[in-house]
Amino acid sequence: MIEEPGFSRERPGFFVFGGGRSVVRALGGKQAIARVWQTARLGTPRGAGLMRAQCQCGRLTVELPGPSPAVVACHCIACQRRSGSPFGVLAYYPEELLTVGGEGKRFERATDEGNRFETVFCPECGSTVYARTVKHPSMIGVAVGAIADRAFPAPVRSVWEESMHHWVTLPGEVQHFAKGRV
Ligand SMILES: [Zn+2]
Ligand SMILES: [Zn+2]
Repeated sequence: MIEEPGFSRERPGFFVFGGGRSVVRALGGKQAIARVWQTARLGTPRGAGLMRAQCQCGRLTVELPGPSPAVVACHCIACQRRSGSPFGVLAYYPEELLTVGGEGKRFERATDEGNRFETVFCPECGSTVYARTVKHPSMIGVAVGAIADRAFPAPVRSVWEESMHHWVTLPGEVQHFAKGRV
């Protein structure tokens, strides 16, 4: 079966990078992901700066290799509060593909699953630009709103839907979870 880029329905925890040929572990196999990323021409190697995420004032930036196929919407209360929006959307990348510019301030909190979640925000204007979990420290979640590109891929996974605002619907093939992904 040929699957589109995104989370595999048959192999939970795996990403399919298009054509069904390249399947790598979504979180943890960062070298593999970096290779596939480049072969699949989903983006260019680090430093090329095809895309950029930034805070409101522009002091904190992240250069991205291109769009990510790993976009996750989170409806948990903490993401609602950190983003000031009904849900947070993060696009995940292997850390080595990103270049951070500027000095962010860090805030770390415990998650309901007993992990640590760290957000990095601009000390001047307060925008969250990226985040990571201690569980998967090699993957960085870049705030999709900070990329400000209306063509950016939609979420492929939606988590903590038990606290999702009643009017929210996500289009297309999305994996739905009442809580965090196990
Ligand atoms: Zn700023
Ligand atoms: Zn959340």
